[in-house]
Amino acid sequence: MTGIAEIVNRNNFSSEELVKLLSAKGADRQILLEKAHQVKVLKAGKKIYLRGLIEFSNICSKDCLYCGIRSSNSNIARYSLTDDEILDACRFAFENRFGSVALQSGEINTKAFVNRVDNLLKKIKQLSNNTLGITLSCGEQSPETYRRWFESGAHRYLLRIEASNRELYYKIHPNTSKHSFERRVEALGFLKDAGYQVGTGVMIGLPFQTLEDLAKDLLFFKALDIDMCGMGPYVEHEHTPLYAFRNLLMPKQERFRLSLNMIAALRLLMPGINIVAATALQTLDPHGREKAATVGANVIMPNLTPLKYRKEYMLYEDKPFLDEDSGHSLSCLESRLKDFGCEIGFGEWGDSKHFFARKKS
Ligand code: SAM
Ligand code: SF4
Repeated sequence: MTGIAEIVNRNNFSSEELVKLLSAKGADRQILLEKAHQVKVLKAGKKIYLRGLIEFSNICSKDCLYCGIRSSNSNIARYSLTDDEILDACRFAFENRFGSVALQSGEINTKAFVNRVDNLLKKIKQLSNNTLGITLSCGEQSPETYRRWFESGAHRYLLRIEASNRELYYKIHPNTSKHSFERRVEALGFLKDAGYQVGTGVMIGLPFQTLEDLAKDLLFFKALDIDMCGMGPYVEHEHTPLYAFRNLLMPKQERFRLSLNMIAALRLLMPGINIVAATALQTLDPHGREKAATVGANVIMPNLTPLKYRKEYMLYEDKPFLDEDSGHSLSCLESRLKDFGCEIGFGEWGDSKHFFARKKS
């Protein structure tokens, strides 16, 4: 049997070897995490890049069984930020040298929504003298919409596959044409064709999910040749159908440890991609994002959504930063990252090095 110390020196793994990395504990786990950090510094650089997150609307046409803002949840007030609120948050990001913003919302496919996002992209570019990088995360859209938004200034797009095992996908989504696994995979292809740096990801620790599923998720990312990954722990939400299966979940501490192992294994598998330290990590551990930054993650998305809306974008229980204003959280984040030996790349885009290598070849 090959030991962890030998496996971590490679960047190609079988599914069985990935399961071994994902289940690593004690000294073996330490070897994995340290190696991932070394590889990150060598291949993606030392810095952590910021994407100021603006959750600009919780109105969603979909009904994913795990998500607190699913259309059937009538316990939340639906909102859409005004253009001015969105642009003020972008101005804050520009003035505080975030380098980039990320606009995220529920999935809406109407013409009005598409036009609105398009207009906003142009205005964000204007207000920042073309300097703010823009990531979008607005779900599945048509190839034309993706192209239009790209031409108007967005250059990265995050669309999690959520679970690359088709059977598991349908256990966590309603089996309707609105929630098609094939369409989700196809949308990732459309994004690549449109020219984006493409990010995907999964939730870790879902009910019914096995370590083999997670190993195959990692191989799916490699096969798709993604540029970025945003994956994080699944956290249950009382007002969702998946809550009924909470007795199947591993304890939160375990989910956290597994999430860090996933990040570390992915860093070894795809050394030059950007990996987000997901906000959900902070729900499971008070230093979750900082810890992720020391085992392979190189992107953090501080929340810039105006405070009065944050409790309505409750994807899962105990979502953090509900009452911490943006200025305060930035200075806290900077000093906490320093404690963990990490430095923020202020004013930089910090694009995926893998993307440029992919474009060249
Ligand atoms: N609507 C877009 C989409 O689904 O791609 C973007 C917004 S959606 C809220 C962003 C991500 O939140 C999803 O991709 C999903 O992985 C994550 N999410 C939703 N519910 C979650 C939960 N209960 N635990 C952890 N992550 C969750
Ligand atoms: Fe809507 Fe995205 Fe939540 Fe699914 S995960 S219900 S698409 S916001």
